[in-house]
Amino acid sequence: MQVRTRFAPSPTGYLHLGGLRTALYTYLFTRKNNGVFILRIEDTDQERLVPGATEKIYKSLKLAGLNWDEGPDIGGDYGPYVQTERKDIYLPYAQQLVKEGKAYYCFCTKEELAERRAAAEAEGKTWKYDKHCLNLTPEEVQEKLNAGIPYVIRQNIPESGEASFDDVLYGHIAVDCSELDDNVLIKADGLPTYNFANVVDDHLMGITHVVRGSEYLASAPKYNLLYEGFGWEVPTYIHCSPVMRDAQHKMSKRHGDPSYEDLKAQGFLTDAILNYVALLGWSPRGEIAEQEFFTLDELVQAFDITGISKSPAIFDIEKLKYFNSAYIKKLSPEDFLKAAEPYLRQGIKNPAIDLSLVAPLLQTRLDTLTEIPPMLDFFDDLPEYGNDLYVHKKMKTNEENSLDALNLVKPVFEAMEDWSFDAIHDALMGVAQANELKNGRIMWPVRVAVSGKPTTPGGAVELCHILGKEETLKRIQTGIEQLGG
Ligand code: GLU
Repeated sequence: MQVRTRFAPSPTGYLHLGGLRTALYTYLFTRKNNGVFILRIEDTDQERLVPGATEKIYKSLKLAGLNWDEGPDIGGDYGPYVQTERKDIYLPYAQQLVKEGKAYYCFCTKEELAERRAAAEAEGKTWKYDKHCLNLTPEEVQEKLNAGIPYVIRQNIPESGEASFDDVLYGHIAVDCSELDDNVLIKADGLPTYNFANVVDDHLMGITHVVRGSEYLASAPKYNLLYEGFGWEVPTYIHCSPVMRDAQHKMSKRHGDPSYEDLKAQGFLTDAILNYVALLGWSPRGEIAEQEFFTLDELVQAFDITGISKSPAIFDIEKLKYFNSAYIKKLSPEDFLKAAEPYLRQGIKNPAIDLSLVAPLLQTRLDTLTEIPPMLDFFDDLPEYGNDLYVHKKMKTNEENSLDALNLVKPVFEAMEDWSFDAIHDALMGVAQANELKNGRIMWPVRVAVSGKPTTPGGAVELCHILGKEETLKRIQTGIEQLGG
């Protein structure tokens, strides 16, 4: 059997982390089984559509490397892959169910429904559709259809008995039909509801495995009644627990929880996000049970559906930072420079500064790339600083001996022709040795003078080297003057 799976987002916003995780698990499972991964856009709920959301989903998935084999932009034998473009496909299937008594036309207006719901609720009953229109005769139905009265088509759920399905993780799930509502299958605008479209499309697209959020667990028995109604084979279901902000709350953009795009914008690397998200509710087993770091390919090899946890996963930004920091360190110097460049440029506008010299000073010190710009705020302009910065207990420096140090360094720097890293290093060490001083007595004052900061990426030598001779000397002179020299 050829495994065929789909990721089926609704274009209602951005790709949230739960969605990314569903896409990732589906992708991993599919690749592991040499299957076909399909992207289907579920846009039948026109009221919830957000312009541009589909493009955002494409972009995010591509950025994450979760490439699909069939989908709206690349086509395939089972298209179209956007539900509104499949509009005409659904009605005949609903009509087939109507013919067989498994669905029926409903002409109740919103107002009528609201009234009956209010009455039911006033009596303390939970409202579900009262099968009012099931009592219409075929002639009455035809008359209303001929008269062009707006209608929906509802699923005719049996009044008794059980509806059930099996989930790989949650096992056998059964509900009493009496608890189920007669869902709308085709809406008044002619489009199918999610409830109907997902069944028809999964069948027509030959989907063998459905991976999706556990919010669909409760309605899956109803979908199964549809499969039974059509006599179609039911796909294997794998429902995944939600991604939570804390024990009580699901992640939600409205409450400020980050989407995949947000995390990218916050300076997290895709590989780190994917690695973290993979482990958010899934654990490797066996020999690799303790392994933490996985490339996408390694995840494909390691992935096993049964390792998915049923308990909700709690998103932990600190853990993600841990992964990100490790992934940043692992980048080659070239790749790090490439990833960091926009952030380096934000921090350093001066085009004379060689960013490839700055990047290595940062690579091991970062949780996220967005930490870069504020670390570099002294490169373009020397900030104002207080002379107390020159006072360093461990280095045994104070204002007075710092002034001496700068005065010793200045003429040596002025005389230098070779402004290489090694030359600067040797010059500063030479000053210390010649004056029988510990290195720190020279290095610290120079570092403060050229940066105006108590902490900097890189030390005195690196900073002088990057700033260049002229700028370094200017800053040393400022330091001398500031210290009263
Ligand atoms: N369109 C649904 C959503 O975005 C997908 C549910 C499914 O995968 O069946 O939540």
